[in-house]
Amino acid sequence: MKTTALTERTFTTANGIPVYVYSNPGLHTFCLSLTVKAGPLYEKKKNIGITHAWEHMVGRNLNRVYGENIDRFLDKKGIRCDFRTNWKRVRFEFDGTDAAFETAAETAAKIFEPFVVSPDDLQAEKNRIKAEALDEYAYSIHRMARYYTWSGARKLNDVIGDTDDIKRFTCDDFAAFQAETLTAENCFFYITGNVTDEQIHYLTGLVGAYRLRQGVPKDNTVKVPKRFFNRNCQLKIYDYPYAPSSVLFSFDVDTAKYTKAELDILTGVLFGKGKGMMFDELSEKTGLLYDFHDRNLLFNNIGVITCEFDVAPKKLTKVIKKIISVGRRIKSVMPETVETEKRGYVLGANAWLDSAIALNDMMSDHRTAHNYAQSVTDRAQNHAQVTPERIAEIAREILVPAHMLVCVHTDTKKFDKKKTRKILMEI
Ligand SMILES: [Zn+2]
Repeated sequence: MKTTALTERTFTTANGIPVYVYSNPGLHTFCLSLTVKAGPLYEKKKNIGITHAWEHMVGRNLNRVYGENIDRFLDKKGIRCDFRTNWKRVRFEFDGTDAAFETAAETAAKIFEPFVVSPDDLQAEKNRIKAEALDEYAYSIHRMARYYTWSGARKLNDVIGDTDDIKRFTCDDFAAFQAETLTAENCFFYITGNVTDEQIHYLTGLVGAYRLRQGVPKDNTVKVPKRFFNRNCQLKIYDYPYAPSSVLFSFDVDTAKYTKAELDILTGVLFGKGKGMMFDELSEKTGLLYDFHDRNLLFNNIGVITCEFDVAPKKLTKVIKKIISVGRRIKSVMPETVETEKRGYVLGANAWLDSAIALNDMMSDHRTAHNYAQSVTDRAQNHAQVTPERIAEIAREILVPAHMLVCVHTDTKKFDKKKTRKILMEI
């Protein structure tokens, strides 16, 4: 008989770090991750960029501990690893076939080894970060939007930070950062896939042996910028006299008022590829543009939902008009559209259980937010409970001029800002 009664279990290491386990004996793979609550959201002014730089340096520290390049070492053992930093967390992820779990556990535990990186290694890694920054720092439209969205909470502009600041960080700075960041209050492990209880205890034993400092718990909230909820239809133009033009719509959200499931459904109905209303109107029906990118950035108190796209300059005004008309339409109750969007979340829920990596990523993410679901079944239920009436109500609260920021890259000589603002105000 098929069973979907898999649920999350919690273990704790001797030094207090939670280890969440959502195992599935039916798989042949595992995924083990360490999530650390850190990032620009929590950085002090003098330390902007240190989290991402530390994430890089952890790789160098592991090279030292192992006496060889850690990526190559893990590769030989059939383990893939991926380290990444976003606004509010660092994620160290290891995955492979079930027999390789112990090696992954040993490596993950060694992240807690004292931080000692040679000046040469430090310099080489700083150069790499500088090169990475070059990739990131093109004046893209979402970078522009980030600036205006978070002005007043300026540190949220970049994960990488300023490379001139990063130059200053010493081995001692990173060691101090590591000691205050790797604490029981601010990190946790998540294990998915085919793992036995013995394997889990192997990990908790290794990690539990490290002495940790007492940390300050981090709450995933951000200081509310002055213009947040008070934008009066903020329209920002950047002169770009070439094709295509780019547009980004962003709406401020009071995240404490809504569940993650409600925001998932709202953004899906609005910006979703394929079945979202804007995609339908602008791409499928009219061919005015081809593709959409939506990004949500949600903290425990506030956040934004956004969409961005490229469009031929000649069609810019027409597209903006259509977006505003869709924004108005979604404020009335649309049972069919909402039910269609929900179906994917509810019927497709069990698909998460078949991918150790995807499940691990999703559940860890839920663990850092206030409205997390503890199982795939919980999550599906949260989505099933969202009603078309509720979506209409949320749309009426969020899709308003006071919450709206619109950034446009286009030829300013051919763009009528006043007229555009009038169109936008009609949302
Ligand atoms: Zn990086």
